Parts: sequence; structure tokens; C-alpha cells
Amino acid sequence: MKTEIKLSKRLKMVASYLSKGTFFADIGSDHAYLPCYICLKDEKSRAIAGEVRKGPYKRALETVEAYQLTNKIEVRLGNGLDIINYNDGVKELVVAGMGGSLITQIIESGKEKLITMNRLILQPNNAAHLIRKLLLDLGYSLTHEEILEENNHIYEIIVADKINNERSQWNPTEMEKQLLFGPILMKENSPVFFKKWKMEKQKLIKVIHQMNNAKNIDYEKLAQYETQLKWMEEILS
Ligand code: SAM
Repeated sequence: MKTEIKLSKRLKMVASYLSKGTFFADIGSDHAYLPCYICLKDEKSRAIAGEVRKGPYKRALETVEAYQLTNKIEVRLGNGLDIINYNDGVKELVVAGMGGSLITQIIESGKEKLITMNRLILQPNNAAHLIRKLLLDLGYSLTHEEILEENNHIYEIIVADKINNERSQWNPTEMEKQLLFGPILMKENSPVFFKKWKMEKQKLIKVIHQMNNAKNIDYEKLAQYETQLKWMEEILS
């Protein structure tokens, strides 16, 4: 029987935000490494691993069987939060390793299933601002943000809790800026954060240059990008 599982630095960081003895759903679980890692380490934890594609679904089933965790992890085939039933009583949700737009779509279209979920741990590969905006709209408090680098990729992790956070992270006068950079990450201003936005700034300069040289200029979009570039320059100064 296999007893140990090696997780990437990124997934380990995601795992560190799950509560002890939790019952969680991992949507888009692929090999189900994350639920297996947690359930091997923490005797009381349980999980549902969701997959929309048959290949990854089969892989998830195989991993769960190989680690003899079928009594603790249920693998379900289906789209997003459709696989969660209201009476499951899932406490925490992980959606990791996908684009920010897809994660937002998965949560938005299954938002009624969030009723039992006290914590959402989301790891978008891009467009994290879409997730922050959705969490704000859904009334979840953004409680932790992480940024890390692994294999030449920079990842952000966003943790949101269903609590009435009186010391909210959001500042109405700089909300758009906070959505883009992350209110917590902005304050921390770590070397990885700096690196990310230095690269993003270079990309944006190129985009703005191309837009300025285009036949039909979208002036509204251009103004938006120029504002973002100004914010990036401020944050990097
Ligand atoms: N969560 C793992 C991680 O972070 O390493 C796997 C990420 S993998 C790149 C994305 C997985 O999400 C794929 O296995 C894909 O089939 C699955 N997926 C994509 N859209 C989905 C959806 N709407 N519902 C469930 N799973 C989905």
C-alpha cells in the first residue's frame, strides 16, 4: 500500500489552508493528489474529488484506490459544483490550477452550493482579479493571499472565509487597484510579487504600444491599460 504522496510546492501551500479534520471538495482534482495528501496526513479529514473529464476522473479513482482511501474520498464525475449535493455538508472548497475565468465561472454557476462552505481556497493560474471581484460580490472575506514561484511560474492563492470581517481588506478609494494586485499581496510587497508585476509591466507596455499603432484604437481599453500601467509603476517604485 502507498503511504506517502509528494505534492508540488503550490499544492502544499493550498493544502496548508485546509482546516484540521475538514470535509472538503476539490473541484478539478485531476489525479486527486491533494485530497489523498490531506487524508493520509489527517486521520479525520474527508473529501470529494470532482472531475469533469473521464480521463482525470479515472486517474483520480486509481490514486484513491492505490492509497486505500476509498472510505474517505469520494470521486465524482461532473461539471464544477454540480457534483456537490446540498446534504453533503462540505465545509471547504478548493479549486486550483485553472484560469481565473474558469474558476470564477465554476463558482458563479454553482454559488447556491456554497451555503455550507465556510472557506474557499482558490488558486488561479491567471486573472486573479476576477476571483477577488466574485468573492467581494458573494460576501466572502478575503483572509489570506499567497504568491509563490515554482518551475518558472508565479502562482497566486486566494483564501476567503464566510465571516463578517470588520477589518475588511477593501479600501473603497483604491478598490480597482486592490482587485488587480490583491489587497494583502500589495501590502506585503514580497520579492515574488515584485517580480511578477515587473514582468506584467513589460507585457503591458508592449500591448499599449501595439494598441497605439493599430488602425482602429479602442480608446476606452487603452485608457484602462494606461491607468493599470501607472499603478504598476507606482507599486514597483
Ligand atoms: N487541481 C489540480 C492542480 O491544481 O494541480 C489539477 C489542475 S488541472 C490543470 C485542471 C483540472 O480541472 C483538469 O483535470 C480538468 O479536467 C479539470 N476541470 C476543468 N474544468 C472543470 C470543471 N468545470 N469541473 C470540474 N473539473 C474541471
